[in-house]
Amino acid sequence: MNEIYIKEQIRQQVKLSQVVEYLTGSKLSKGKMLCPFHREKTPSFFVNDTKGVFYCQGCGEGGDIFKFVMLKNNQSFKEAIRWVDETFHLGCISQKVSYRQFLEQQKREEKKRQRQEQEARDKVLYDEIALEYRICVSALRPGILEPFSDLWAYYIQRKQYLDYLIEEGGY
Ligand SMILES: [Zn+2]
Repeated sequence: MNEIYIKEQIRQQVKLSQVVEYLTGSKLSKGKMLCPFHREKTPSFFVNDTKGVFYCQGCGEGGDIFKFVMLKNNQSFKEAIRWVDETFHLGCISQKVSYRQFLEQQKREEKKRQRQEQEARDKVLYDEIALEYRICVSALRPGILEPFSDLWAYYIQRKQYLDYLIEEGGY
């Protein structure tokens, strides 16, 4: 199993406070409760669902959802992942297909991003070519430059090159 993916999936689907309340059998009050890891009379155990971390000001114990389960259930990291997945019916571990889909989705998004970048670059190039082309055409208008002068030859050459670009590049 891909641990990083499964960890992320679990974090998105279950709140730390849910796990804490489930395992301690007590309710958090404003993110606080009596610490399950040391004896105390006033709550100094904090849970932050936004950050997904717990911390006890009394005994200094702290960590994320998996650390909490490991400590409370006396389990290894892998056992803790499996326990959360099964207890809260998340099905993250059995979803091998969905991990493949996740990777494919990422690949598709990357391709889309590259295509958009390419289109943006093409647009800039197109604008530059179009502008230069207009300059060439107006410079080559009769009476503006002396035929067969250096400048005239330059614009002829430049226009031919732009013609080629437009034809080849589909601009
Ligand atoms: Zn404590």
